[in-house]
Amino acid sequence: MRGNMEKIILDNRYEIIEQVGVGGMANVYKAKDRLLDRIVAIKVLKDQYAEDDEFLKKFNNEAQSAAKLNHVNIVNVYDIGEDMVLGRKLYYIVMEYVEGTTLKDLIDKEGRLSNHDITDYSIQIAQALKSAHESGIIHRDIKPQNIMIDKYGLAKVTDFGIARVSSNATITYTSSILGTVHYISPEQAKGKIVDEKSDLYSLGAVMYEMATGRVPFDADNSVGIAVMHIQDKPRDAREINPSLSDKLNSIIMKLLEKDPSNRYLSAKDLITALEGNLVRVNETPPSDTARIPIRVMEDKKEDTEAIYVSASEDRDDKEKKKPIKVLPIALVALLLVLLVAFLLTRPNKDKIEVPTVINLNQDMAVRELEKRGFKANILRTEESDEYDKGKVMKQDPNSSVLVEPGTTVNLVISEGREVNVVDLSGLNINNAEEALKEIGLSIGRTTTEYSDTVEKDMIIRQDPKPDSKVQTGTKVDIVISSGPEEKIENTTVPNLVGVEENTAYDLINQFGLSIRNVEYKESEEYEEGLVISQSISEGTEVAMGSAIDLVVSTGKKEEEKEENQVKNVDLRLTINTENDTFNVKIYKLDENKARTDLMYNEDKSKEDLTEEGILNLNFKAILNTNFEVVVDDESYGVYTVN
Ligand code: ATP
Ligand code: MG
Repeated sequence: MRGNMEKIILDNRYEIIEQVGVGGMANVYKAKDRLLDRIVAIKVLKDQYAEDDEFLKKFNNEAQSAAKLNHVNIVNVYDIGEDMVLGRKLYYIVMEYVEGTTLKDLIDKEGRLSNHDITDYSIQIAQALKSAHESGIIHRDIKPQNIMIDKYGLAKVTDFGIARVSSNATITYTSSILGTVHYISPEQAKGKIVDEKSDLYSLGAVMYEMATGRVPFDADNSVGIAVMHIQDKPRDAREINPSLSDKLNSIIMKLLEKDPSNRYLSAKDLITALEGNLVRVNETPPSDTARIPIRVMEDKKEDTEAIYVSASEDRDDKEKKKPIKVLPIALVALLLVLLVAFLLTRPNKDKIEVPTVINLNQDMAVRELEKRGFKANILRTEESDEYDKGKVMKQDPNSSVLVEPGTTVNLVISEGREVNVVDLSGLNINNAEEALKEIGLSIGRTTTEYSDTVEKDMIIRQDPKPDSKVQTGTKVDIVISSGPEEKIENTTVPNLVGVEENTAYDLINQFGLSIRNVEYKESEEYEEGLVISQSISEGTEVAMGSAIDLVVSTGKKEEEKEENQVKNVDLRLTINTENDTFNVKIYKLDENKARTDLMYNEDKSKEDLTEEGILNLNFKAILNTNFEVVVDDESYGVYTVN
C-alpha cells in the first residue's frame, strides 16, 4: 500500500484517508468506514508477513480474540479482513481510531511526567491489563508505542494479543522484536512461557520511563539489553528523578523485580497500590469506568496530589474543597523527598557508573572498562547456554552501580556450550550462515573446489564435520563447489613463420590459441610484416587458450636499405638547342662532385620534346646518388636522387 491512498477502498467499505503510522509489521492508516459512517484506524500487514501462512493464521486467531475485548482503555478491534488491491493480497485489522499521541511521543516531548500523570496513566493501563487478563489474554508487548493517549487524557492500549504472533516461545532477537526489548520481562527474554506478570513487568518499565524519561536498561544491542533485564538491577527511578514520589518509586521497582512472584499478584493489586497513592473524594471502591482526574490546586506544582472521582458520579463543590488540607502534607512530603534525594545523591558525586560489558568479547570488555577508569579482572570461565565462547557472561559490580573510580570489575567469561555441528552439505553460503548462527556457530575459512556432483555455489564439505561436538562460537570451515571443472582441450600449434602478421593472428585465433607478446625485429631473411619466429614450434600439442609469442620482421637493416634502395627518377629538362637531334648523358658523381660512371647516354630528337620544349627522362638510380646531366657536352646541372 504505497502511493495514492485516497483511491483505495478495502472490501468496498473502508476508504483509506491517510497513513498515520508505521510499525514493525504493519502500516497504520486512518480510514472511513462507509457502512457505519465512522472514522477507523486500519492496520495493514506488511508484504513480507502476508506471504507467511503460519504467521497469517496466528495473526487472524489473535486478532479475533483481541476483538472480544471491550474496555475504555483498550483500543477496540472492530473487524479483520483481506482484500486484493493492485494485484496484491492485503491483510488488515480495523480498529478504533484514537485521536491523540502515543505515550512514547508524550514522554519524548515532556521528558518526565508528574507523579499525578504517572499514577493516572498507570491506573488506566493497569485497568486495561486487568480486563484482558481476566479474559485470558496476555498482551506481551506493553510499551509506550502501544499506548495511545487521546485528547481527553484517556490511555488506550493497542495491539492486544497481536504481539504473541510476532514473538513465539523461543525468542530470537530479530528485528521484529528489536523495538520491544526495552520493556521485555526477564522470563520473556529467557524465552520462557509468560503469564500476566510479564505484562506487569513491562508496565513497570513503561512507568520507569514515564518517571525518568529513560528506559530502565539501555545498551547498544538488543541482546545486551535483554541480558540486563535478566540480571541487572535497575537504578532506582527516584535517583534519576528526585521529585518522583517514594510510593511510586517503590511500586515501579516492585514491578521490575526479576522474579515474577516478587511483583504484584495481579493487575488488580497494582491498581489498589496505585490508588493508595491517591486521595479519593468518596469512599466507594474504584470502578472500572473511565476516570476523570481533577486537580486540587490549579497551580502547576508538580507534586500536587490528585483526586479521582468516578465518571459516573457527580462532583460537588463541598467535596472538592475538602482535600485542600492535603496541600501542606504534600509540601512537607516534597521537601522530605528533596532532602532524601539530596542526601542520597551527594556521596555519589565523585562516583562513576559501571557500564555493562555483558556479551562483549573479553578484550573489548577489558578495553571498555579501562577506558572508563575501571580495572578489569578475569575471574574465571564458565559454560554457558546463552553466551558465545569468549564473551563476558557475568560482571561484578553490575552495570549502573555507582562506584569509586579505579574499582575492579570482575568478569566471568563464557566457555560457550557444546553444540552438535549441523550438516551444511547442499546448502549455499547464506543458508549455511543462518543454520550455524542458530546454534551459535559461524562460518570460518571458505575455499572453492570443482565438483561434478555438487552444484555450483553449494557446500561440498565442512570442518568440523557434521554431528561433531564443538563449543559455541566455533568457526566452521567450508568448501564450496565452483561447479564441474572445465575440460581442458588440446590444440596443435600451426606454423606461423613466414606468414604475414595479420594472417598469423587469424591462425592463432582459429587454433584456439592466444597471443601474448609480439616483438618487432629487423631481418635479412624475412620481408617487413612477416613472422620471423614463434615461441611454441609448429606441431606442438598445447592446451586450448595457450599463449604464444611472435617475432615479426621490420625488414632489412636501415643503412643497407638506404644504400641500396633503387628509385625511379623522373627528370624534366628544358632543352635549349637549335639542333634537330641532340645527345643526353648522365654522369654519376663522387663525393667531390667529379664525374665517374656514365649512367645514361642516348640521342634524342625534337620529336621527343613536349610542346613546351620539355624532355621527360625516366631512369633508375640508387637513393642519394649525385649526378650531372650533360646535353651535347653542355652541363644541365647537378642533382641528387631522393
Ligand atoms: P509494533 O509493530 O511493534 O506494534 P508499533 O506499535 O510502533 O510497533 P504499530 O502498532 O503498527 O507500531 O503502530 C504504528 C503507529 O500508528 C503508532 O505509533 C501510532 O502512531 C499509530 N496508531 C496505531 N494504532 C492507532 C490507532 N488505533 N489510532 C490512531 N493511530 C494509531
Ligand atoms: Mg503497536
